[in-house]
Amino acid sequence: MTEATVAGVAVDTRHWIGGVRVGSAETFADVSPVDGAVIAQVARGGVVEARAAVAAAREAFPGWAATPPVERARLLHAIADGVDKRLAELAVVETTDNGALLRSHLRGVMPRVAHNLRFFADWLVENLAHDDFDTRGHTNRVSWDPAGPSVLITPWNAPLMLATWKIAPALAAGNTVVLKPAEWTPLTASLFADITAEAGLPPGVFNVVQGFGEEVGAALVDDPDVRRISFTGSVPTARAIGAAAGRHLTPTSFELGGKSPLLVFADADLELAADLAVEQYDNAGQVCLAATRILVEESVAEEFTAKLLDRATRLVQGDPRDEATGVGPNIHADHVARVDGFVRRAVDAGARVLLGGGPNTDLGGLYYRPTLLTDVAQDSEIVQEEVFGPVLTLQTFRDEDHAVALANDTRFGLAATLATGDRERADRVTARLVAGTVWVNCFFVRDLQAPFGGSRQSGVGREGGTWSFDFYCDVKNTVTAPNGWR
Ligand code: NAD
Repeated sequence: MTEATVAGVAVDTRHWIGGVRVGSAETFADVSPVDGAVIAQVARGGVVEARAAVAAAREAFPGWAATPPVERARLLHAIADGVDKRLAELAVVETTDNGALLRSHLRGVMPRVAHNLRFFADWLVENLAHDDFDTRGHTNRVSWDPAGPSVLITPWNAPLMLATWKIAPALAAGNTVVLKPAEWTPLTASLFADITAEAGLPPGVFNVVQGFGEEVGAALVDDPDVRRISFTGSVPTARAIGAAAGRHLTPTSFELGGKSPLLVFADADLELAADLAVEQYDNAGQVCLAATRILVEESVAEEFTAKLLDRATRLVQGDPRDEATGVGPNIHADHVARVDGFVRRAVDAGARVLLGGGPNTDLGGLYYRPTLLTDVAQDSEIVQEEVFGPVLTLQTFRDEDHAVALANDTRFGLAATLATGDRERADRVTARLVAGTVWVNCFFVRDLQAPFGGSRQSGVGREGGTWSFDFYCDVKNTVTAPNGWR
């Protein structure tokens, strides 16, 4: 059965290829992290479905690329209207599928999905004008041509939000799309396909293929007809995709993992700093940008730690559909075991548990307790590797140089957060940090026109605003001489 009713919402879990639903011989089970129940059987695509989806995207491409920008923008707004109309359904299905808080989906994430679509539609119309300049009487005209079929591969921690962050600029640019959602969260992509059809998007412009493990994703990125690959996920998968893309020289954009620091200086507002620290348990720590390494200046370490523990112990853990819940479940049992493995090995290596330290057995095995570890060595696994669970480490630093050295000493460079009351210090430290985004006395403020991405192994390239169009387009410069005209 590839039709499911999830939280009262009917979801067709077949692929969406060329404007029609397509099944596969095999299916895989979709399990809810809320209670471990199987909520849907989903079509399990492979090479055949991948080829079909790329072929549909290739066929639809010339028509979509030739569609005037204002019409493309109108259709993106119509899709956003459809998202707004079904916002409550999308929110409850997403929560059931990935376990993130319902109130976040209702008030933050799903409105952001619609905003992604509207923002890139408006950017296309308002900012992507031809850009002319003169060279010795010759005119240079820069234009952004659609690149072609684009494969978008997304993770499970913020499924539809991260998907539309790619879908919107790709479609706005005039590209056609094949989306491969993560196998743990296939449902809202399927609902989104319905919304695109209701909005009147032509068949083949947007396609979804479902699949488990690497099968369908690996086939998609190894297709020579694909012109762009945008991937958000883990470093090992990015390596595999990069190798395949390299065979065809397909341009890639990678948004990967992180091990970001929160630097708390003695001159900071410590109440604010503790608020920023406790925010890192959001989405049960399954946030690429999370500042999971807390670095605090020695002289205020005790005072700051007490404030953080006070806030963290008051977090309510439970059903993500409850309004009072602050921390929900982690995505699946193997992931919880992986998170716990990191904590166990850290403790064996001498880490001291200040909070949590294991699954919340009262709630079943999928809910990991918010955890804070200290006495951790800079070169230890728990400080160097992304855990992707509600696990923070706490280290102290002596001075600014020491803080920067610790902050930069991982293979990642996605984000960094600073708590300081000194503007000059903020400027000095920011200039020395290796990070795609730095937040000063704030966290998670994200404007879609800002560049977004990671340095080092946190990513390749930047998306957002004009950077998205640079990636999804073939940028062309046309030089026209003043003479030669009849
Ligand atoms: P993952 O790498 O396991 O999977 C991501 C996607 O890749 C899934 O859709 C999966 O099916 C697909 N895939 C797997 N093997 C493939 C292959 N060989 N070829 C093509 N596709 C393949 O990542 P995940 O566990 O779903 O997500 C968690 C990771 O994502 C974390 O590392 C997190 O930091 C990162 N992330 C980064 C950002 C960011 O913007 N930087 C945002 C969210 C999550």
